[in-house]
Amino acid sequence: MIISIASGKGGTGKTTIAVNLALSLENVQFLDCDVEEPNAHLFLKPVISERMSAYIPIPEVAEETCDCCGRCQEVCAFNSIAVLPGEIREHGSVLIFSHLCHGCGACSLLCPLDAIREVNKEIGIVEKGFSNGIQFVHGKLNIGEAMSPPLIRQVKKHVDPTKTVIIDAPPGTTCPVIESVKGSDYCILVTEPTPFGLNDLVLAVEMLKTIGVPFGIILNRYDIGDDCVDVYARENRIPVLMKIPFDREIASLYSKGLPIIGYKSEYDSEFKKLLIKLNLNP
Ligand code: SF4
Ligand code: SF4
Repeated sequence: MIISIASGKGGTGKTTIAVNLALSLENVQFLDCDVEEPNAHLFLKPVISERMSAYIPIPEVAEETCDCCGRCQEVCAFNSIAVLPGEIREHGSVLIFSHLCHGCGACSLLCPLDAIREVNKEIGIVEKGFSNGIQFVHGKLNIGEAMSPPLIRQVKKHVDPTKTVIIDAPPGTTCPVIESVKGSDYCILVTEPTPFGLNDLVLAVEMLKTIGVPFGIILNRYDIGDDCVDVYARENRIPVLMKIPFDREIASLYSKGLPIIGYKSEYDSEFKKLLIKLNLNP
């Protein structure tokens, strides 16, 4: 079973929930897909045993073969290729914007003159390790690199179907989040009871409905806002799986890179109840 933890906006406590859920389970694998800013390792402190470079194939044009027909520009859905007509060189020129390229291969496949070959560009690394019996995988995107979805796909290639898989998704509702949560059996949306929290929750709910992943809500710091999220959840029949109050001790643990499980015993039973709601065995 794959459970992803997501949130419409950052700072809601998504990683805290993901880490503590993983710590409440046996036979679990943890994938940190927040590759632009992975931080679950700060709490799980895995011993890294494997480190692999991650690449995407980007196009390289053989100018002597290319006749600037423009087909590659037409087929590129990401505006990563511009074919310039005649002035720059005799027949024109092809510009590749490698930072926009998703490495989909369409341009090289559809070039009528076979003028495009693919070259590997390193976009980051994938690291694997163990932390107290939890199999751990995360990706780290190179600084300045814009394309996180291909790296997220490479992290997800390590999904072990024999384990319960917890995916810590990036915040937001854009491509990296969709890439992280698609294929999950369930998604937990972590939010807080404020107008901003509700606004981003509604966007995240629409995203999950579109990609067909069932979901529920965890309401963090539920006692410092209003009842807007509760009302929205009730009206839209979305299960509220857990409510966590604002707690200085939890904030303090977070700042020290410590999980809740093992430090605040009253939460052991709260996370066990959550597992039951998710049909998972502790
Ligand atoms: S499709 Fe091939 S031949 Fe046409 S412009 Fe692109 S690289 Fe050149
Ligand atoms: S590989 Fe895909 S994304 Fe990259 S330039 Fe070619 S068509 Fe565009």
